Amino acid sequence: MENPRADYHKRYRGKYSCDDCGKSYTWKPSLTRHKREECGKDPQFSCPFCKIKIRRSGVLKRHLIHVHKWASYTETSHLF
Ligand SMILES: [Zn+2]
Ligand SMILES: [Zn+2]
Repeated sequence: MENPRADYHKRYRGKYSCDDCGKSYTWKPSLTRHKREECGKDPQFSCPFCKIKIRRSGVLKRHLIHVHKWASYTETSHLF
């Protein structure tokens, strides 16, 4: 007996690439989310300690201070 979910996956699995930035995704919903939430938005920053992706430098600063108890910006100020 056919599993309708498997069929769903077959139908939506493929190569979907963003026509604005060329980023490609296996799943169509991922591309839709990318276009809605990421594409053309502020560049992503990533925490040098835990590699979490953060969209805004101000949020990254807060993250560093609160999560990593980081007090000095000077050494990594080039990241901002
Ligand atoms: Zn894009
Ligand atoms: Zn972190």
